[in-house]
Amino acid sequence: MHPVLELLIKLQEIDKEIIKTTNEIDEIPKKISLFQKPVKDAQDALNQEKAKYQSLEKKKKAQEMDIEESLDKLNKLKSKTADIKSNKEYQAFLKEIETAENNIRKKENELLDLMEILEDVKKVVNEKEKAFLEEDKRLKEQQKILDKEIEDKKIRLKELKQQRAAFIKNIDEDIYKDYMHLLKISGGIAVAETKKEVCYGCNLHIPPQLYVEIMKGNEILRCPHCRRILFSREEPNFENIRIKETTDNLQESDD
Ligand SMILES: [Zn+2]
Repeated sequence: MHPVLELLIKLQEIDKEIIKTTNEIDEIPKKISLFQKPVKDAQDALNQEKAKYQSLEKKKKAQEMDIEESLDKLNKLKSKTADIKSNKEYQAFLKEIETAENNIRKKENELLDLMEILEDVKKVVNEKEKAFLEEDKRLKEQQKILDKEIEDKKIRLKELKQQRAAFIKNIDEDIYKDYMHLLKISGGIAVAETKKEVCYGCNLHIPPQLYVEIMKGNEILRCPHCRRILFSREEPNFENIRIKETTDNLQESDD
């Protein structure tokens, strides 16, 4: 094979790995953000439950104060017994006390219900807290793995770049410029392999005569469709090609 072509094939291999490694490094923050979402969701769920608990706690305190005030009022009312002058007044007085006592009992029952709900919500808060801590732990573990992955890939990238810098010293400047131009415009593939008369850069068919020359590997040849530099690892098999050409000709005459 043409020595320059050999060099370009090797350069393309290095560049392919550089591009792949760079893309993988860029993808890692996206992977991390995938693990951040469940942590945030768990945190939100926990906060929501905590807010619910706090609001119930406030309600409970207000209820306790309300009961205390009602008890004060009841005690004051009871102390007025001396002011009662008639039986009728006494009956009304007893009724008033009964109503106040019933009212307090009702409020005490409400308080008990509230305390029960509070206990249930407390349980949910604890569950949500546990779920949040688990998600957070998972994120931190994943973060550690991915940090290590980034670190390893950066080391590999540095190696590849050093390898590349040493390697391109052997390539003629004009050819290198041409290669770089192709690399930019052809999505990172400047040198493509060909197999069975197909360019693996663009997947289009290569004319048989050109393919024979590519298989020989004596020149730097390009794909007539995508302009990429082509090479072949296939052994030239002229018998096959001759038959293929004949079939192509037959097909042409069929049209
Ligand atoms: Zn092509």
